[in-house]
Amino acid sequence: MNERRRVYFDHNATTPVHPAVLEAMLPYLKEQYGNPSSGHQFGRAVRNRIAEAREIVAAALGAKPAEIYFTSGGTESDNLAIKGYAWANRKTNGGAIVTSSIEHPAVLEVVKYLGKNGFQTRILKVGPDALVDLGEVREALDAGVALISVMHGNNEVGSIQPVAEIAAMAKERGAAMHTDAVQTFMKIPVKVDELGVDMLSLSGHKINAPKGVGALYVRKGIKLTPLNHGGHHERGVRAGTENVPGIIGLAKAVELGVANMEENARRARELRDELERRILAEIPFVIVNGHRERRTPNTLNVTFECVEGEALLINLDMAGIAISTGSACSSGSLDPSHVLMAMGIPHELIHGSLRFSVGHENTREDIDYVMRHLPRIIASVREISPLWDVKNQRVVSVEEAAAGARIARK
Ligand SMILES: *Cc1c(COP(=O)(O)O)cnc(C)c1O
Repeated sequence: MNERRRVYFDHNATTPVHPAVLEAMLPYLKEQYGNPSSGHQFGRAVRNRIAEAREIVAAALGAKPAEIYFTSGGTESDNLAIKGYAWANRKTNGGAIVTSSIEHPAVLEVVKYLGKNGFQTRILKVGPDALVDLGEVREALDAGVALISVMHGNNEVGSIQPVAEIAAMAKERGAAMHTDAVQTFMKIPVKVDELGVDMLSLSGHKINAPKGVGALYVRKGIKLTPLNHGGHHERGVRAGTENVPGIIGLAKAVELGVANMEENARRARELRDELERRILAEIPFVIVNGHRERRTPNTLNVTFECVEGEALLINLDMAGIAISTGSACSSGSLDPSHVLMAMGIPHELIHGSLRFSVGHENTREDIDYVMRHLPRIIASVREISPLWDVKNQRVVSVEEAAAGARIARK
């Protein structure tokens, strides 16, 4: 009972570097330090390894190596895709850009920025299941669009968008399609031709490679204006000496991921489903957020009524358990998650929402450990909520709570 563990259930935020990935990277931090642009043997050796890494990433996506651009991560890939495409294709269909309201900030903020800088933009609503409505997508595209960017799997609730259907509609109307696949890559099959997308972002540190490396797939024939100007790295699209160890690590993680994808997904889904089942069985007044079937296999987002997510986070952290809350504290503030808000979840429920995201190193014992602590933590946090009836163990309405307070004061 007093056993103390460290349990990490926050893999949608970041993942540990796989030991084999670190092993593959080490030579490129030591003796293989050449600059891939150099003409001598030091440069040549590294250049050849980057070419191999590009082949590995391309093959995983069903793309050609020349369609892969290495970047500093998901954020840069998203920026390069959207700004790069917008700037290079202002004349296509009036240059309008469409995205969804539940995108990662690396997409949403880019589209908002372009909106403030002369581009027509439109942000699509989502339903309570966090999926876009294909009717609204069609209507938006019919108005004339240069680029539509809709994420594949959502990082907060895991919902998987109908990317292939959107891409097909976009293609018919001469619009390009980008998808942020950071949360699906290596969790479910992600093939650019099956999805029909023109651009696709991925990130290393979400797939057990290091932070600071990622890639953007760009279909042959698509023109982008670079964000970085400088040397001729990445065929002039992304200037800057390559992050060689990062790229080698990314390719190793992709190799491992491709070889073990089914097994990893099955394990993650089993653990996620077990955690979901036990939370629903052992804790009252819980709601599961997002689409129950169309969901990345490792993600569980739940609302506990009458609790403050931050209080849960702190209490779980003290027990050694790492999760995320429905309040984005990225800026140090406690803004309710824009994803849960877009799904129409009321503020007070958003504040009681937690995200559990499972990774390869998690075990059944981790779930047992969480379930030894979570029910007791929820109960103690609920005790201080004015909307929790301690005696009857139930949620009361604001009116009932107010009436109760009046009676107590008499
Ligand atoms: C983490 C994440 C990003 C950002 O990737 P970085 O490599 O951290 O810049 C973008 N999109 C989604 C969906 C993510 O989960």
